[in-house]
Amino acid sequence: MTTERTEDYLEALDIIIEEKGYAQVKDITKFLGVGPSSVTEMFQKLSKAGYINYEKYGGATLTAKGKTIAKKTRKKHNTLREFLLIIGVNEKIADADACRIEHVVNPETMARLTKFVEFVQRFEEGPRWLDHFKYFYETGEYVECTPKTASNCPVHGNK
Ligand code: MN
Repeated sequence: MTTERTEDYLEALDIIIEEKGYAQVKDITKFLGVGPSSVTEMFQKLSKAGYINYEKYGGATLTAKGKTIAKKTRKKHNTLREFLLIIGVNEKIADADACRIEHVVNPETMARLTKFVEFVQRFEEGPRWLDHFKYFYETGEYVECTPKTASNCPVHGNK
């Protein structure tokens, strides 16, 4: 089992490495907002546990083992973030919450959420009921969305 901190480091490392090929202590310092001495200490731990290759004055790269966890964590993060954006959470909160939920979410929940996000994104402009949900969130008013009511819909007008 990996810890939350390990997963966040591997996630950050993968994002940085994707851009510049390797990651230095200062990159992580900036990315995670933590002090350089904690980053150095964590680099040593991650290296010892076989998640990264790290040379003290060079950069860090991910091992296959580290990469697997990084990719899994990033995938969960992105799906959770998408889900939160779909229900109308703002980007800043969606990112922050995704980064915490990703460590504890049950695989069953994740599988459903992944399919849910995929399902919602099948519709080019989003499903109509989602507009109705947003209207419900804003106004507290529940408006049915059926072919019968569609012609007189306060959410969609006559569309
Ligand atoms: Mn996280």
